[in-house]
Amino acid sequence: MPPLPFPPFKLCPCNSKQPYAQCCGPRLSGEQPAQTPEALMRSRYSAYVLQDATYLLTTWHPTTRPAELEVGTQPQWLGLNVRRAAGDTVSFTARYQERGVRRELRERSTFVQESGKWFYLDGVEG
Ligand SMILES: [Zn+2]
Repeated sequence: MPPLPFPPFKLCPCNSKQPYAQCCGPRLSGEQPAQTPEALMRSRYSAYVLQDATYLLTTWHPTTRPAELEVGTQPQWLGLNVRRAAGDTVSFTARYQERGVRRELRERSTFVQESGKWFYLDGVEG
């Protein structure tokens, strides 16, 4: 399924305070691959918000990528805070709501670069 449409001039779902067209939009459309782990992490968060499973799978490293992935309206993503980006890791907090309960996901994600492209490898709580 293609991503949900999102107005290019609206602020990006990843909370960068940049318009979507100057942030995650060109990543999800494939025009401009993410140049840094943080940019990839942000674009993957936006892909969850916009239910773009294809983007999530293609930016997932083949060694850890699930065979299939379903993204839908649950959980409802409420916001992203990138706490630290250093080297090939990004620590973030993502807020979401599931069945009426607000929760937080705190993760430190690891990324790898291959042939000039960044991929999500895995994440641990923290
Ligand atoms: Zn963004």
